[in-house]
Amino acid sequence: MSTVTEIFGSNVFDDATMRERLPKDTYKALQKTIKDGQLLDIQVATVVANAMKDWAIEKGATHYTHWFQPMTGVTAEKHDSFISPTPDGKVIMEFSGKELVRGEPDASSFPSGGLRATFEARGYTAWDPTSYAFLKDKTLCIPTAFCSYSGDSLDKKTPLLRSMQAINKQALRVLKLFGHDDVSSVRTTVGLEQEYFLIDKDLFDKRRDLIYTGRTLFGARPPKGQELEDHYFGSIKPRVHEFMADLDEELWKLGVLAKTEHNEVAPSQHELAPIFTTANIAVDHNQLTMEMMQKVAKRHNMVCVLHEKPFAGVNGSGKHNNWAISTNTGVNLLEPGETPYENAQFLLFLCAVVKAVDDYQELLRVSVASAGNDHRLGANEAPPAVISIFLGDELTEILTSIESGKPYGGRKKEQLKIGVDVLPRFFKDTTDRNRTSPFAFTGNKFEFRMPGSTLSMAGPNVVLNTAVAEELRQFADELDGANDFTSALNDLIKRVIKEHKRIIFNGNGYDDAWIEEALRRGLPNLRATPDCMPAFISDKSVSLFTSHNVYSKAELQSHYDIKLDSYAKVVNIEALTMLDMSKKDILPAVSAYSEKLAETAATKKAVLPDVDCNYELQTLEKLSRTEATMYARACDLEKAVLEAREAVGIAETANYYKDHVIPAMNELRVSADELEMLTSKAYWPFPSYGDLLFGVR
Ligand code: ADP
Ligand code: MG
Repeated sequence: MSTVTEIFGSNVFDDATMRERLPKDTYKALQKTIKDGQLLDIQVATVVANAMKDWAIEKGATHYTHWFQPMTGVTAEKHDSFISPTPDGKVIMEFSGKELVRGEPDASSFPSGGLRATFEARGYTAWDPTSYAFLKDKTLCIPTAFCSYSGDSLDKKTPLLRSMQAINKQALRVLKLFGHDDVSSVRTTVGLEQEYFLIDKDLFDKRRDLIYTGRTLFGARPPKGQELEDHYFGSIKPRVHEFMADLDEELWKLGVLAKTEHNEVAPSQHELAPIFTTANIAVDHNQLTMEMMQKVAKRHNMVCVLHEKPFAGVNGSGKHNNWAISTNTGVNLLEPGETPYENAQFLLFLCAVVKAVDDYQELLRVSVASAGNDHRLGANEAPPAVISIFLGDELTEILTSIESGKPYGGRKKEQLKIGVDVLPRFFKDTTDRNRTSPFAFTGNKFEFRMPGSTLSMAGPNVVLNTAVAEELRQFADELDGANDFTSALNDLIKRVIKEHKRIIFNGNGYDDAWIEEALRRGLPNLRATPDCMPAFISDKSVSLFTSHNVYSKAELQSHYDIKLDSYAKVVNIEALTMLDMSKKDILPAVSAYSEKLAETAATKKAVLPDVDCNYELQTLEKLSRTEATMYARACDLEKAVLEAREAVGIAETANYYKDHVIPAMNELRVSADELEMLTSKAYWPFPSYGDLLFGVR
């Protein structure tokens, strides 16, 4: 048995491995690329490629792949073996610098939203040296960006790297104004808490809805749900524990800092939290985590369900994006400082986030939009579709006192005059916790809680990084030209609080009263994906993303098209699956059971004429009536699906699915679930909610 420290990163071509295996000058040149973004020389790449190959082969690898994240939101790989023929009819194992740096996968089937016309189907992958190469299934995986022949990004990683550059540039400008000439780079750090369900595989395989759509489309409520809250942080069942131990080991080998595993609120629901790291690495690691969760679950005869809302009436799964900004000198810019002067800088960065979230709320909403997550946002367990920020009482009080120019009374003794009005000392752990806010300050970082569990986390971080970069740009421009820095800073902070305090809300985000209050404050409540997507291609969005070189106008349009198209496709598959299960399973089962009841009643009447057959006859009647309703509703759904095909254009189609198909699906489900409550378990064609949710023992 190896120890954890030996296992950790053993399948990663990480810094320690590079230091050990690369010639000194190669290592140094590569570091320059990784740390300062310098262009990599092909000779250096050749040496690195060779060392990577030798390392991978020693560990049993035979293939390599450029590992990338197309706009489907999952990862893609195309495996090539290292073999290369020799004149004597044998092979040698080869891997060139060119193969490391650039690849050309046959990419015509990945969605490009029109960015890559079919006659120009080529797409290129380009090595991202800032994310380490790793070994998976005897294959050397090289994290790469994916773009078209003309340089448009076709993936999730490229915009993320661009947004990290944008915030780096603007944060450095602000830090210079505070005299931090020692800081040479700033990066955003991210910690992603991942929720998921574990379902017994034999039961899962009996439900076509789970197989085709990842969620249950039917299912009456079980007698026991999550009302006792006895699962949350409860003791972990042995089978789940074995899964978690196995998963941790796989993730550690890949250098993923898996830290805590615990049960969540819903039965069969769990969470994994890693230790935070640089944003693009955290996003890569999260993709690997989701992949490993599914693989490892199978080994334990379970299925890891990552859908945002696999079960109606039971908590769905999210992914919390913990986000902060760090300097290369190790300072977290969202950490309240030790001195009031540091606090002035902290407050400025805090204001940048507050202003960014208020100015670009629609874009944050877009960044978490999907057909799956629409079921979760606004349900009782998830933050609403309205964006607001939780800062906690103390911080809010401090901001309020700055705005009004009154001294802050919280900690009288420690008030110090520094020109930025009266800034008290305050400490990170004084922030209280709130679990219902979509965007909460948690002491030294922000936690964005709206993302759904399947989402690639590139999108939300692209929006956050770019929006905050834009605010920092405005701040730097304003402060740069100021005669008196301190009073300009004071004015700026005051003004930002005044203009953007509407986004701050410390109360219960799950309360209906908040939705009304939000409306009064002018905050949009964009419930469904088709409602929020137009914001993505608005002038405001185009101006934000193009001015920071994060997305071109064409790239925005392509993401817009892909998201809406995939929304319509997902709902379409769900509707067809419902029809399939209704016609092939549910209605025939109800029919068969009805016949059984009718037969039984007739037999009873003949044999025991004086005994009533209330159970059989009343159930038969209810069943028959509900069955008739269900059948009519199935016909309605069928009609809606056919009509959706008539819609013209991506937006109209998506809206048709939202306004007509989804309501028809909901109606059909109500009838089916009523029938489930009336039908004998022996006749019901698939496992119930109770079976699924309590099936892992
Ligand atoms: P909780 O939200 O359950 O109280 P923690 O505050 O310990 O948990 O952290 C939750 C997540 O936030 C973890 O994944 C952790 O690594 C991450 N995190 C902590 N500090 C930072 C930071 N500076 N930047 C980004 N993520 C962070
Ligand atoms: Mg959390």
